[in-house]
Amino acid sequence: MKTVTHWIAGKPFGGTPGASGTWGPVTDPATGEVTTQVAMGGADEVGAAVAAAKDAYAGWRTSSIAQRTAILFRYRELLDARRDDLAALITAEQGKVHADALGEVARGLEIVELACGLGAALKGETSTEVSRLVDVVSIRQPLGVVVGISPFNFPAMIGMWMFPMAIACGNTFVHKPSSKAPSASMLLAQLAAEAGVPDGVLNIVHGDEVAVNALLDHPDVAAVSFVGSTPVARHVYRRAAATGKRVQALGGAKNHMLVLPDADLDAAAEAAVTAAYGSAGQRCMAVSVVVAVGAAGDAMVPRIVERARRVRIGPGDDPASEMGPLVTKAHRDDVADYVAGAAAQGADVVLDGRDFTVEGLENGHWMGISLLDRVGTDSDAYRDEIFGPVLCVVRAESYAEAVRIVNASPFGNASSIFTRDGGAARRFQLEAETGMVGVNVPMPVPVGYHSFGGWKDSAFGDHRMYGAEAVHFYTRGKVITSRWPDPAEVAAG
Ligand code: NAD
Repeated sequence: MKTVTHWIAGKPFGGTPGASGTWGPVTDPATGEVTTQVAMGGADEVGAAVAAAKDAYAGWRTSSIAQRTAILFRYRELLDARRDDLAALITAEQGKVHADALGEVARGLEIVELACGLGAALKGETSTEVSRLVDVVSIRQPLGVVVGISPFNFPAMIGMWMFPMAIACGNTFVHKPSSKAPSASMLLAQLAAEAGVPDGVLNIVHGDEVAVNALLDHPDVAAVSFVGSTPVARHVYRRAAATGKRVQALGGAKNHMLVLPDADLDAAAEAAVTAAYGSAGQRCMAVSVVVAVGAAGDAMVPRIVERARRVRIGPGDDPASEMGPLVTKAHRDDVADYVAGAAAQGADVVLDGRDFTVEGLENGHWMGISLLDRVGTDSDAYRDEIFGPVLCVVRAESYAEAVRIVNASPFGNASSIFTRDGGAARRFQLEAETGMVGVNVPMPVPVGYHSFGGWKDSAFGDHRMYGAEAVHFYTRGKVITSRWPDPAEVAAG
């Protein structure tokens, strides 16, 4: 069986039974078989990783921008050449189909490319002669040791949202990936070392909440970037802030897609199916609720059914598959329970994916597509983040009622509107209480040079991921006021 150890100071670390860590299982979601043992870190491994990052910081923070840029360019090239290998690791542990995993790698690479332009991003500001012979310069400096904690659903991309920007800014980094899908992060670290990232600048500790809490409490950690579910995001935000750390903690989502009757309904249905069932619904940007206004409801449901029935479900490494399994058996069963509960709470179960399986792979974590219509906003299926291939349709009488529904959700990650009415779209982009809004775009994931983040219970902390906000998060400002005597005046006495 394969083993995955920690990665500290540029090499594999620990994972020895009997040390403070133990081993955890990693399962192939398509077969249900345990394929890998991952080392689960504790205080010792966290201590070693933070110490390595602290040691490396002095040299890295003073490395030149030219040097860091050259390393990041080499990293970009190595990653580009290994896209397929990274995608294969993602599929083997997370379950998503290969094409989707390649898309994930591409979105991560976008941030590495952004980090290659760090010289422009780190420029300061200068004011000359603010008073006689007095100049003022604002610069930004790194924070020190920064931690990133990421979820299972994007085993490569979310780490890549964090560490390329953090290290480009001169910080050193400790990554705690999800123990459900740990291997992609190891290849990312190995390639970083190959590209010339010095030992200790990028470290990995695997594990669960024990490792996370040790990182959150560690006095030498300056900042924490977190992406995961809302309850854990809230915990991370509170616990890390309690010891004065800078924190950004992105949480879960319930993304609504509002469809007006004047929309291109075929395009809207196509978009709903891709955005709801892609990656088996295990995306924080997945559409999980269609809010259909007026006649759009009766028109959308059969269109979604027709398209959803054509989605080919199978193992992620089969090129014919369009949707893979769910990450664990327990998660699959939770998702199935929501479908059962929705029926009991009055929804119309238009498509029921609970009995789906793949011949020959019956132990895989399979779930077919489910579509729930006329879902009540007080039902569990509506209120909770299901994080599976289940789309709820909620009916609204008017645009105003639909916006009220969107904004009453405690989540505020993303929302979208489908319409041909520019005025309605404009109103929605101003009124929607979500951090990201799509207009005729179901999953409005910002490009790398903008920033990613939600509102309300979908994000804690005031800086979003990547883009200019990452530079602000991973650096702190310093303002220097200086007065130099004029040599002519000095000479004249
Ligand atoms: P999770 O919250 O269970 O785990 C996230 C990370 O926290 C993992 O590294 C995990 O090991 C650690 N963790 C888990 N429980 C912990 C605890 N009690 N204390 C401390 N650390 C703990 O999330 P997940 O199931 O891996 O990922 C799915 C969730 O992530 C969904 O809610 C999804 O919406 C969210 N997500 C959000 C975004 C976003 O950008 N907002 C992006 C991707 C995923």
